[in-house]
Amino acid sequence: MILSEAEFHEASTLEQASELMGCWGAQAQLLAGGTNLLVDLKTDRFRTGHVISINRIAALRGISAADGGVRIGALTTINQLAASAVIRERFPALLDAARVMASPQIRNLATVGGNIAGAVPCADLPPVLAVMCASVSLWSPSGSRTLPIEAFFVGPRETVRRSDEILSEIFVPDAPARSGAAYARFGLRQANSVSVAAVAASLILKADGAVDKARICLSAVAGKPTLVADAQSTLAGNVLDKSSLDRAAEAAMATAQPISDVRGSANYRRELIGTLTRRALLMAQKRAAGEK
Ligand SMILES: Cc1cc2nc3c(=O)[nH]c(=O)nc-3n(C[C@H](O)[C@H](O)[C@H](O)COP(=O)(O)OP(=O)(O)OC[C@H]3O[C@@H](n4cnc5c(N)ncnc54)[C@H](O)[C@@H]3O)c2cc1C
Repeated sequence: MILSEAEFHEASTLEQASELMGCWGAQAQLLAGGTNLLVDLKTDRFRTGHVISINRIAALRGISAADGGVRIGALTTINQLAASAVIRERFPALLDAARVMASPQIRNLATVGGNIAGAVPCADLPPVLAVMCASVSLWSPSGSRTLPIEAFFVGPRETVRRSDEILSEIFVPDAPARSGAAYARFGLRQANSVSVAAVAASLILKADGAVDKARICLSAVAGKPTLVADAQSTLAGNVLDKSSLDRAAEAAMATAQPISDVRGSANYRRELIGTLTRRALLMAQKRAAGEK
């Protein structure tokens, strides 16, 4: 569609945004960085008569320490996330994802909230946030609700967000002692290419180095970020060696439901998932052991 066909509105507060959303309901589209939305409108993925910018809403900005973790405002850009001292120090897996996303120019505009709310199956942050047990908060005039990030996604570009709700913030709990997380993804180019397949993993190790808890989340190989249900039973009690890594890779490959498209065949994607699972687990283990 031609963008000038849509009426542009700007909100400075959550209440104003809600009032504007109330006028046009599900038909109105929220605009954060616009790096997904404007492409979708220009390429006619869908049309809208009303675009509501939430960019001036100060309450949606900033990264701050919260009780037991860190709070990331939905409007935090990917570059702000990557530059944050607290993220660099305590959540390096988020940097794994932020550094490989898109290009520096896109990362200056693209927001964390948009990366999640868009529910694009190959988005880079949701799988990492899922293995770190992050939650998302949805604000509406009737109150806020918080849910685990993996429960937010329904399918490709489909979420549980109601049309009167705004994704306001993401909460990432502090990582326990002897824990680490990592993200491994494969794209066809170094920049400006979305992932063909990706895997995030997190581990909590026991004092003897064996796995206590494990989470693995797959991206770009199903309609939504997908936790590997067998990760915990496959890895708990074992040290990470060839045998346990192979079993984890097999569980991840069995969980994947990849499609074939211009970026790769379903078989290729499934093979990638095996390799990326081993890679993410080994990196998570190094971080859990204290390696920077
Ligand atoms: C060239 C190019 C390369 C890219 N490469 C990557 C990549 O490598 N990895 C990757 O993950 N993504 C990539 N993207 C996609 C995009 O940049 C990211 O997903 C980005 O984080 C989207 O954020 P945004 O603020 O621009 O969202 P917008 O485009 O503003 O919004 C996206 C959707 O989310 C909704 N929305 C936004 N914020 C909120 C909110 N707070 N509450 C409720 N709904 C909201 C909007 O209504 C819209 O439907 C790329 C895009 C381009 C153009």
